[in-house]
Amino acid sequence: MGKSKDFLRRIVEEDLRSGKYKEVVTRFPPEPNGFPHIGHAKSISINFGIAKDYNGRCHLRMDDTNPTTEDTRYVEALKDAVKWLGFEWDNGVRHTSDYFPKLYEYAVELIKMGKAYVDSLDEEEIREYRGTVTSPGKRSKYAQRSVEENLDLFERMKNGEFEEGEHVLRAKIDMSSPNMKMRDPLLYRIRHTHHYRAGNEWAIYPMYDFGHCLSDYIEGVTHSICTLEFENNRDIYDWVIDTLGLPPPRPYQHEFARLNITYTVMSKRKLLELVEKKVVSGWDDPRMPTIAGYKRRGYTPESILNFCDQVGIAKANSVVDVSQLEFCIRDDLNPKVPRVMCVMDPLKVTIENYEGSEEIDASYYPHDVPKEGSRKLPFSKEIYINREDFTENPPKGYFRLTPDQPVRLKYAYIITCKEVVKDENGNIVEIRAEYHPDSKSGSDTSGIKVKSAIQWVEAHSAKKVEVRLYDRLYNVEAPEGIEDINPDSLKVIENALIEPAVIVERPDERFQFEREGYFYADPIDYTDEAPVFNKIVSLKDSWAK
Ligand code: ATP
Ligand code: MG
Ligand code: MG
Repeated sequence: MGKSKDFLRRIVEEDLRSGKYKEVVTRFPPEPNGFPHIGHAKSISINFGIAKDYNGRCHLRMDDTNPTTEDTRYVEALKDAVKWLGFEWDNGVRHTSDYFPKLYEYAVELIKMGKAYVDSLDEEEIREYRGTVTSPGKRSKYAQRSVEENLDLFERMKNGEFEEGEHVLRAKIDMSSPNMKMRDPLLYRIRHTHHYRAGNEWAIYPMYDFGHCLSDYIEGVTHSICTLEFENNRDIYDWVIDTLGLPPPRPYQHEFARLNITYTVMSKRKLLELVEKKVVSGWDDPRMPTIAGYKRRGYTPESILNFCDQVGIAKANSVVDVSQLEFCIRDDLNPKVPRVMCVMDPLKVTIENYEGSEEIDASYYPHDVPKEGSRKLPFSKEIYINREDFTENPPKGYFRLTPDQPVRLKYAYIITCKEVVKDENGNIVEIRAEYHPDSKSGSDTSGIKVKSAIQWVEAHSAKKVEVRLYDRLYNVEAPEGIEDINPDSLKVIENALIEPAVIVERPDERFQFEREGYFYADPIDYTDEAPVFNKIVSLKDSWAK
């Protein structure tokens, strides 16, 4: 296993060996303000994966301290994502909002210690006073308020007596610290907004830097794993816990490089924009890099976890090629799924010298896939092939059917074109052909050489299906947003024809449509009367140069 000894696991092992902790406790702490994306899958695989590997626990915690953007719908999506990836959180979903009373007590404690004060500068002044990286900041005059005054004001902030922005609670640390984050960071701000869980009980909400470390502490988290952007927040994380003098065991923060993928946007804000502007059909649109999107597209949890493992855990940011993810899903499906025949753009072929009908036995799996199972392919005088598998003017290297070149119907016979039937506009509407009775697949004695075998379906038994061909949502390698959308990321084929066994026997949900790619029965829109298939991925990397 590639994931055996990344730097986080080495830290965890050392902490267990030294006796710093008896048990590993990690957490996955999303903000419920959007559907989780594949970057979250990475975080889920690390946090739950480490807990699993070391017999520890991983908590699922909704980091719900921003009442303006949160919603229970997103909580459900987060739970679904973790479960679908195959993990279980320890003992119920947790919420930072559950700790609001306790966090308030800790804040009061800091005020009493003279380590926090109510500041009444406005937002602009706070920014100005903070200084710059090259110049020290200036402390607010309100920092001189007495403990009593601070306690009184803070309580009244909590009770909703002030307008938003009138006051904030700040830690009294160091206005000239080289780490800008340490220049008296904000701990609480006033928000008169309904909270999706806490209702209207609170008029103040803790800031990330105050709420996160203490929530970790309250839950007994040992390793608080986050992405590199939080490196400078680590000093505050430690300051809060140290200043409060909280008894051990206490958590420590460790940072890893976030996952970035080419042709992919990973920001809930930007993904929300696509949903709101109806660029996609919803958070679970199969083109979305959300876990719900991959799930609906037909990706398997295994393929996503394998991808996360292959990418590894790094200390420096980089961008992973999206073809690596596509490789992982192909690699997972190749040995698992049945091969079937679907004709995307049907062209009728009438086999003049064939009478009656028969059923041809065909394995669902090729020889190199160690799985059993077969179906019957109806065969008769009338079949359909793909329009692009016939041409009157073959370019060099064209191996399929032409007026002069026979082709094999996969699993069945070799046919030769006899006549091309056209309508009044010159469009080909039918091929009249002959089959070679002694060329049947598996017992071919015809001696006819063909250069390829094509998919086909029997005309009377084939089922009409809708096929949704998905391509990359963005057409630039490092997309910024909506302006980089690939306008051709969805193509709907309404009248494809599929062999009947796929609908009637339903040997699987995922298939390889021969020569077309991997497909998934859409879990929402599919019915037996009106089947819908999503293209998961092509057979080969068609974007490769
Ligand atoms: P976004 O900007 O997409 O909303 P976020 O970091 O604000 O992402 P959170 O809900 O706060 O989203 O994230 C929950 C957890 O998932 C955090 O620990 C965060 O570090 C992690 N995470 C988010 N995006 C990625 C990513 N691209 N790679 C790895 N981990 C990520
Ligand atoms: Mg966040
Ligand atoms: Mg964010």
